[in-house]
Amino acid sequence: MNARKRLLIIYTGGTIGMQQTPEGLAPARDLAADIREMPELGQTFQTHPPVLDTLSYDPLLDSSDMTPGRWVQIAQDILQRYRHYDGFVVLHGTDTLAYTASALSFFLERTDKPVVLTGAQLPFAWPRSDARNNLISALEVAANMPDTMTQVCVVFGPRILRGNRATKVSAKAYDAFDSPRYPHLGAIGIDVEYNRRRRFPVAFGNFGKQGSLPPDDAVALIRLFPGFSATTLRAICDNSNLRGIVLEAYGAGNGPSQNQTFQDTIADAVRRGIVVVVVSQPLDGIVRMSSYAAGSALARAGAISGRDMTTEAALTKLYYLIALGYSAETIARKMKTPIAGEMRR
Ligand code: ASP
Repeated sequence: MNARKRLLIIYTGGTIGMQQTPEGLAPARDLAADIREMPELGQTFQTHPPVLDTLSYDPLLDSSDMTPGRWVQIAQDILQRYRHYDGFVVLHGTDTLAYTASALSFFLERTDKPVVLTGAQLPFAWPRSDARNNLISALEVAANMPDTMTQVCVVFGPRILRGNRATKVSAKAYDAFDSPRYPHLGAIGIDVEYNRRRRFPVAFGNFGKQGSLPPDDAVALIRLFPGFSATTLRAICDNSNLRGIVLEAYGAGNGPSQNQTFQDTIADAVRRGIVVVVVSQPLDGIVRMSSYAAGSALARAGAISGRDMTTEAALTKLYYLIALGYSAETIARKMKTPIAGEMRR
């Protein structure tokens, strides 16, 4: 690093700053002072320590309380300050971090500065906490990510991951996130190493100028299981605010092909302008609906393939496209096209 970088830390909550309460861990401390006093920062950035500013949200949230409104708030806070900083670090609870990372990859315009999400499995002040390491690694990536790779990413434990490919894979290990359907962007060991072939693809969209928030129930997520009832599906589809469904189907994108009421309900929903996107349940799954008759039936009913998108990416992308005000046809078309590196071509 040659010049002093300016980094903004947006602190939204999460275990990283929690304290024990009679009800269990809850967001409590403002971390701004702790961060500035971290002795490691001096060593990490040696001659040119970054200028750090902190924006702490009020209230701080356990990320189980995150909402689409908060995703947009984070995106707008970044956009409003975009010119003043070289990179952004978002401190976030791990439970829904992958959703926020995916949402930010869409809601931010084409990002040419790193936006790095991180958190911790143990609170900052606890012995053996991973908070300092994760935060320092995130700051390093936010300051030094190669220009050709700048994007929304997750830095956690030893991994640098594309934000909209990441998913939480452990509630107890320090390497809590992985991207089983996409290679890592880099590794954090003695050195921070980047996989430079993982360039950021060209994105589109301009939420800052045109978007408006749809209601939270514009999108639904349904995970299939043996015996899933078509009545439940119909009840969900009857909501007049509903514009899109992410259907977590089996394996290659298969569903109950012999359940005619289920298939008819999907076809009916699609006819009414609800976009149904199929993603795969296994961690490393990819949807190829023509592989099995059970997948072809879903395709015939009008469901579209989310290919190798994570559930988090499919859900937040749908939400983003609805927020941009597109018609069902346009949303369906754009759901099949990568817009921020979230799926293979
Ligand atoms: N419940 C916490 C949260 O997501 C978990 C964590 O941060 O690790 O906010």
